[in-house]
Amino acid sequence: MADLEEIDCCDLHCHSNHSDGTETPARLVQLAKEQGLVGFALTDHDTVSGLPEAARTARELGLHFLSGIEISSKIEGQELHILGYGFDPEHPALLSGMEAQHHAREKRIPAIVAKFNRLGIEISAEQVFAIAGEGSPGRPHVAQAVVAVGACKSVSEVFEKYLHDQGSANVVKDTLTSGEAIDLIHSAGGVAVLAHPTAKPIRSTGGLDALVGKLAYLGLDGLELHHPRATPQNRKRIKKLIRQHGLLASGGSDFHGGNSPGVRLGIGRGTLKVPFSLLRGIEERATNHH
Ligand code: AMP
Ligand code: ZN
Ligand code: FE
Ligand code: FE
Repeated sequence: MADLEEIDCCDLHCHSNHSDGTETPARLVQLAKEQGLVGFALTDHDTVSGLPEAARTARELGLHFLSGIEISSKIEGQELHILGYGFDPEHPALLSGMEAQHHAREKRIPAIVAKFNRLGIEISAEQVFAIAGEGSPGRPHVAQAVVAVGACKSVSEVFEKYLHDQGSANVVKDTLTSGEAIDLIHSAGGVAVLAHPTAKPIRSTGGLDALVGKLAYLGLDGLELHHPRATPQNRKRIKKLIRQHGLLASGGSDFHGGNSPGVRLGIGRGTLKVPFSLLRGIEERATNHH
């Protein structure tokens, strides 16, 4: 009898300190190995800079590695995260696109800081950039600065009070459109997957079904099916859309180290299970683009 525990698993959604995670790419691969995973993809926000280190460590530890990224994009005024997999990490168009996203992120930090200052919370852009280090600067780094000056107790408190999408200190960042993000991933030979489709309320006219229809028309290849925030009902809905549009499925923990309390690499909040066969399916589709 097949024991469910013995299915080969992978994690296809993880953040390192090259964006807003706290661990190095090498450490993430080590954690994946310790968790008994056989496949891994690093998906930092708007950057590929952690991929060489992750790929090298995966080779050393005998893990199957897939290049990954989570691109911030917008469609109809709402932000969507598009995961890219199996692309050429040195593709010039992808690199220059991500360079532009990085500049937009850098420009946005002082604007968010100014909003906090107006609220009487004295943080500085320098402080935020120091926290972000070499990584893509983002809201989690601002939130850490707010915690550091004692204005809130935790990063999640900062998000709840000030930094959520409609929060009083949030500044919407300039991004590619979702169609452009999909095209960029394809031109680099990769596969484009919508991240956490049910994690946020969908503001698109017609809701999630209409949104996925539009994205499929724009060339989207897959939907993230397994995610710590996806309930069984969510997954049922996503599966139906996957069947309807002939899409691929992906999944991962969205691990951010200390910036995602309660979430562990590979297993999420304890019950996540991403079959390695999903990595294979994505990889096969990526090869077809070359
Ligand atoms: P940014 O890319 O700068 O817009 O920041 C978005 C990132 O902030 C997401 O990818 C998550 O990693 C993190 N995030 C969003 N909402 C929350 C929240 N409520 N608590 C903690 N982190 C969050
Ligand atoms: Zn993140
Ligand atoms: Fe995301
Ligand atoms: Fe993520």
